[in-house]
Amino acid sequence: ELSKTGWLLDITKLKLGESIGEGEFGAVYEGEYMGQRVAVKTIKCDVTAQAFMQETTVMTKLQHKNLVRLLGVILHKGLHIVTELMTKGNLVNFLRTRGRSVVNPVQLLHFALDVCEGMEYLESKKLVHRDLAARNVLVSDDSMAKVSDFGLTKVDSKVSDNVKLPVKWTAPEALKKEKFSTKSDVWSYGVLLWEIFSYGRQPYPKMSLKEVKERVEGGYRMEAPEDCPPGVYSLMKICWEQEPRRRPAFHKLREKLEREMGKCSPNGKD
Ligand code: ATP
Repeated sequence: ELSKTGWLLDITKLKLGESIGEGEFGAVYEGEYMGQRVAVKTIKCDVTAQAFMQETTVMTKLQHKNLVRLLGVILHKGLHIVTELMTKGNLVNFLRTRGRSVVNPVQLLHFALDVCEGMEYLESKKLVHRDLAARNVLVSDDSMAKVSDFGLTKVDSKVSDNVKLPVKWTAPEALKKEKFSTKSDVWSYGVLLWEIFSYGRQPYPKMSLKEVKERVEGGYRMEAPEDCPPGVYSLMKICWEQEPRRRPAFHKLREKLEREMGKCSPNGKD
């Protein structure tokens, strides 16, 4: 089926390079495919490979500047998923290794806006990501942020499988009743904003997962990261409304972020 649609790539045209990351199911390598620099995720186990075909099938339908682009797959000793190479790695490591002395608040806002635009696109396709977090955002050579890891992405909100949920990023209704929606992605986006403006800190520092579940259900919310612009913290807070309907849609969030960006530069341009 994939061969007919042009997503099946030729293993002999792939040059595998160094390992650049460790996924849950296998290593990620950098490489080259017909002259283009690529990342290759290898899944050795056949059962897992089957599950990943789903991730891939979703990805074939998505094209946006803020989503990591799929080039194709190779069926060879399991599955190789070939995507564009994001040379600056994931956003958590990017922010942690560079820190406040290198990355300024305007750049943080750019990352926030990039991710928001990618999510606005998913929202428009009625797709729910379900695992939005800074570790799943990758940074390109020209420092654009793109959303990756569509492994859990579903068209509908019902999930049955007993996947481990990323508790600190998952909305209360999704944790309790498995109600995933674009609005639960918006909750995760709020946590991602917190990660960005804290330069890659672990959310809910020093709290156990059990504690996070209980306290968030009871209305507890994280404090603003150090030096976070108040306007950005208000955005986090509305993403963390208990009631999903009260959370803004991604297109609204984008407008608000653009306004925030306007405040940063005197003439409204950057
Ligand atoms: P999954 O849950 O789908 O197994 P994972 O989180 O285990 O995913 P990935 O996030 O896909 O694994 O990849 C692990 C790491 O490899 C990333 O954090 C990142 O540093 C690196 N990586 C993944 N894809 C790319 C890419 N396209 N370009 C550059 N680096 C990448």
